[in-house]
Parts: sequence; structure tokens; C-alpha cells
Amino acid sequence: MTLLELRNLTVTYPGGAAAVRGVDLSVAAGEKLGIAGESGCGKSTLALAALRLLPVGTRVGGQVLLDGEDILAMRWGRVRAVRWAGASIVFQGAMHSLNPVHRVGEQIAEPVLLHGRTTPAAARKRAGELLEQVGLPAARASAYPHELSGGQRQRVMIAMALACDPRLVIADEPTTALDVMIQAQVLRLIERLVSEQDVALVMISHDLAVLADTCDRLAVMYAGRVVEEGAARAVHEDARHPYARALSGAFPRIGDPASRFAPRGLPGDPPDPFALPAGCAFHPRCPVALPGCATDDQPLRAAGTGREAACVHVGADTEDAATTPKSRSTP
Ligand code: ADP
Ligand code: MG
Repeated sequence: MTLLELRNLTVTYPGGAAAVRGVDLSVAAGEKLGIAGESGCGKSTLALAALRLLPVGTRVGGQVLLDGEDILAMRWGRVRAVRWAGASIVFQGAMHSLNPVHRVGEQIAEPVLLHGRTTPAAARKRAGELLEQVGLPAARASAYPHELSGGQRQRVMIAMALACDPRLVIADEPTTALDVMIQAQVLRLIERLVSEQDVALVMISHDLAVLADTCDRLAVMYAGRVVEEGAARAVHEDARHPYARALSGAFPRIGDPASRFAPRGLPGDPPDPFALPAGCAFHPRCPVALPGCATDDQPLRAAGTGREAACVHVGADTEDAATTPKSRSTP
């Protein structure tokens, strides 16, 4: 059953930056969807748009259906209710999301109180239970954020995200600010909790290996579009879109620090959304671009069972030989 469905989602920031350009994605109840792509590809914008957290003046088009109800068309009161109890979000830098002057236990108890119709004592008890679920002693409830390590703060953020039993958690680079050992622990924790509680997960990362390890399906974004989507392992191990392939080649190991920000063999940066290239936005960096790629953009098209990719080399009727790694040498 579909829980979250993005339909032709577009986001344009004030000034005209087209950060998300016509994204269709869906997440089933209990499913784990990974969204990958270099910095600047529109991943956070997509997450923020889904929960209506974008700055005033940002133009958002399309639909964000949560259980069939369009979040973009809701009244604010309903949006606030949905944000914790329907879908919640975990951001990258826990230090900025936690309030430095309040004890973490109070911060976890707050949404429980607001949305749970419960007593302060029951909310405090629930905060302690949530801390234990994320592997912290309940007594840490009395700590202030600065008294916790980065990994512990991120655990507190996860506890907050789960506080009101949401059906969907969006985790935007939840471990990028942490060191590699702690990253793996926190990722496993998120994965275990969402699996146990049958919560759907949208996990955002620039690291395809991390996502392949934790998610069922993967969507790869480039310049505000989804350029490939499919089963997580298949996309990581046998990507069809040249950009997805460059990304998967860039992250042979989880959290590989050397390749963290620059996919190997792929010079340059994603385009500025103020100045997108004509045609396929990836063509200036693409090792297999054809002349037509500079003028013709490619829609997503079938690339095998449950697979879609937006590349001229990928077709329903051809075996996209030009884009399989074994059959060509990348210049
Ligand atoms: P990602 O999360 O994939 O790194 P973002 O969604 O943060 O990408 O950003 C996508 C694009 O939108 C980037 O080019 C970024 O500079 C631009 N952008 C992000 N936030 C704003 C904003 N508040 N105003 C204008 N442009 C923004
Ligand atoms: Mg981001």
C-alpha cells in the first residue's frame, strides 16, 4: 500500500533556482527508500518540500500525498499534526536541531505532549523509554545537548522523530556529520527501529553504498530530477544511468572518506540550478554522452524489472549495451 507519493514535485527557490524538477516517487508502508546524489542535487529540498518546511517565497508545485492526503494543500493546523504523528524528519546536524537550553528529555517529551493528549508525567516516562530504544540510558534525559557526543545527539534526534509513532521517517544525511564508526551504528539503529516498528523510511545520503546497505529501493537524483530508480542492490551493483554508475563507483565501501564528496572519474560539479544546461543536465560531465544529449532531455524509461533510468542509452527494447560497464571503457 502506498504511504507517500510525490507527484510531479517541483521546487523553485526565490530568485528562480529550480532545485527540484518534476519528481515522481512513491514509498509503500514500511518500505525503505534511499535517495542518493551529490551535494546540490536537490535531495534536502525534496525532503523539506514534503513536510512543507521550505522558506517563505519558495514556489512548490505538484502533490505530496501522505495516505492520499495532499500535504501541500493542507491547512497549517493539519500540517503541524502530520509533521510528528504522520511523518517526521531527522536532519544532519543534531546540534542545530536541538535546543541548547533545554534538557534532551524535555525536548523528546514535548511532541509527545503536544500530539499525544497525555500527561506531563506520562510524556516524561515515554521520553525515557525512547532514549532506551535508541541505546541511551533513560537517565540521560536530564542532559543538555552539549553534554552529549555527536552520535548521542543524533540518537536523541531519532528518538524525537519516533516519539509520536509516525508512519514515515525522513532522514536527511543523518550520519554525515559523524565519524565513520558511529555512522554505521546510527544507521543500523535507524534501520532496526523502522523495521521493528514498521515505519517507512526515506533515507537521504550522498553515499550510495550506505543506502544500498540500508534500503529496499534507491532513487538517484541529479540536478533536481530522479535519473534512476530501482531495487537498492541492483542500482548499486549494476547502475544503468552513467551518473548513478559514477556514484556507485565512488563509494565502494560504506562511509569511504576518501571518496566522500567527489565521485571518482567524474570531474566537475552538479550544475547550478540557476543555470541548468540544455538537454540532459548531466551531459557536460557524461562519459557516454551523444551529440543529441546537449539538446534533448531524457525522461525516465523502463530499464528492466522495477527499474527506470533517464538516459538515451537505456531503452525498453535495447539491451542498453552502451551503458553496461563491462562492454565499454570509460574515457
Ligand atoms: P542537496 O540536499 O542534494 O545537497 P539541496 O536541496 O540542499 O541539495 O540544494 C539544491 C539546490 O538548491 C542547490 O543548488 C542549492 O544551492 C539550492 N538551494 C538550497 N536552499 C536554497 C535556498 N534557501 N535558496 C536558494 N537556493 C537554495
Ligand atoms: Mg542536503
